Amino acid sequence: MDIRFAEVVKVLENVEATTQRTVMARLLAGLLRKTPPQVVDKVVYFLLGDLRPPWEGLELGVGEKLAIRAIARAYGVPASRVEDAYRRVGDLGEAARRAASEARKKGATGILSFVQAEARHLTMGRVYEVLYRVATASGEGAQDLKVSLLSSLFADASPEEAKYIARFVVGKMRIGIADMTLLDALSDAFNVDREALEKAYHVYPDIGRIARSIAESGEEGLKGISVTPGVPVQPMLAQRLSTASEILGKLDRKAWCEYKYDGERAQIHKVGDRVKVFSRRLEDITGAYPDVVSYVRDSLAADTAIVEGEIVAYDPSTGDFLPFQELMHRKRKHNVEEAMREYPVKLILFDMLYLDGRTLTDLPLLDRKAMLASVLNENDNVRHADWGIFVDEEKLDVFFYEALSEGCEGVICKSLAGGSVYEMGARGWLWIKYKRDYRSEMGDTVDLVVVGGFHGRGKRAGLYGAFLLAAYDPSTDSFYTVCKVGSGFTDEDLVRMYQMLEPLRIDHRHPRVVSKMEPHVWFVPELVIEVVGAEITLSPLHTCCMGSVKPGVGLAIRFPRFTGRYRTDKRPEQATTVGELLDMYARQKRVKAAE
Ligand code: AMP
Repeated sequence: MDIRFAEVVKVLENVEATTQRTVMARLLAGLLRKTPPQVVDKVVYFLLGDLRPPWEGLELGVGEKLAIRAIARAYGVPASRVEDAYRRVGDLGEAARRAASEARKKGATGILSFVQAEARHLTMGRVYEVLYRVATASGEGAQDLKVSLLSSLFADASPEEAKYIARFVVGKMRIGIADMTLLDALSDAFNVDREALEKAYHVYPDIGRIARSIAESGEEGLKGISVTPGVPVQPMLAQRLSTASEILGKLDRKAWCEYKYDGERAQIHKVGDRVKVFSRRLEDITGAYPDVVSYVRDSLAADTAIVEGEIVAYDPSTGDFLPFQELMHRKRKHNVEEAMREYPVKLILFDMLYLDGRTLTDLPLLDRKAMLASVLNENDNVRHADWGIFVDEEKLDVFFYEALSEGCEGVICKSLAGGSVYEMGARGWLWIKYKRDYRSEMGDTVDLVVVGGFHGRGKRAGLYGAFLLAAYDPSTDSFYTVCKVGSGFTDEDLVRMYQMLEPLRIDHRHPRVVSKMEPHVWFVPELVIEVVGAEITLSPLHTCCMGSVKPGVGLAIRFPRFTGRYRTDKRPEQATTVGELLDMYARQKRVKAAE
């Protein structure tokens, strides 16, 4: 049982043409409904532009050059022709489509006969299998094998099919189907409760596997899904408040408070001697941190465990912590050994989710802390986060300023209640972050998604001069604009932004973006950047929280400025939410009134 690849492609074309999120979800649901359960996982992975869940780290290992060679070989044209077309249109998919259709017209055959190909309709199963073989080809001759596998796939494909295969191969689908969109579609297609689906997804973020389970056994299929060492769970997130008194008010007047370290969040899985480090967006970042791997081996007296913490860069000559940017320098270096020496790190742990066969996520905070303490041998490289329990606002404030003077961003206050479980994937009130004061200045930064670009002029000609930014609304899985930002970018930043956004360029507003402004160029919502502004104001131009404060107006950030910080560690769905901006606005108003 299989589905014709042409059917998948037809839906992708329709999805690409729509600007309505509801239409997008309906199209996807329709496709999933008619896909046989045996291949539903493959369809789902393909829609997401992957072969396996991203945390498995399986890569095709095919760069543009190789892909161009495969296309050229399949259609019997010189690689330079394909390359030229690609440079002209900026989309390898379109270049492949053109090459395929010209070859068809000419009746040229490349290495395989098109007549034969017509008879041999591609199925999703076949496409997946070939791509999987491409990804797993290794050792001597792997490159050639990859090219010949791909070129046979292209030779069998219709022009439209070739377009999506090419885009998939170079990792630039330009569709912006996100996990949440697919969960909606799955819930609709298989009549499974949306919340149950999301819960399963937080515990085991593999939409392919979830799709397959429910396609085969309906909601029952979700029962077998549980926390599994080796498989990252969606991290718990924190709400934010700006005064110690509000925080203690929310947390029953007693809070466990910890320094908020300015590094990279790490979810670390240890299974015997094997250690894996996952980022906040659940990518396998083990390769970048061999030192962290050995720290964990040396300091955790557990056979199987999942712990969470922050990897922080420090200056070995003073022992002082360094900001997140330093860590990013390290990650950009190719030579890991050298990077490790130049930018040493410490591991600061703050939670434990699994220990030797037992899932701990349903335990209250203090029990999890106790379990962590029972197996952690602290040393110079690994230790628990600095903490204190506070009932008194002034003492909490002193702790907060101490954290700032230690190079931390502030503190995170955690609930000590009986129900203080580890809420996977949730941004609830069990954890509250306390950063700088809001006052009337917008002291805190926000992480926003780039959804549009405006052409630059003068020195910025040929690049983008400004960007349209949006906040995320989890209840509609959409992005709402909140400012246009042009300041804070160095010349280097502008070039980098251009390069990062190029593969995300689309010719109309993305269906998950809600905007009244019309930028010159639209992007698939993917890239997150950090921004700070003077304050949050009301504006009729932006759609963020439209009508929440006053009819017909939304929220906007006044005088926004890029902080220089690319939040590539965040998925767009982890950007600042519209709800957070509304809270910030309300708080700012209260502070102003008090003054
Ligand atoms: P934010 O990224 O501003 O939403 O703040 C939450 C982040 O703070 C988490 O994702 C962690 O990466 C980081 N963090 C630093 N220290 C701690 C801590 N002690 N407990 C929890 N999160 C922490």
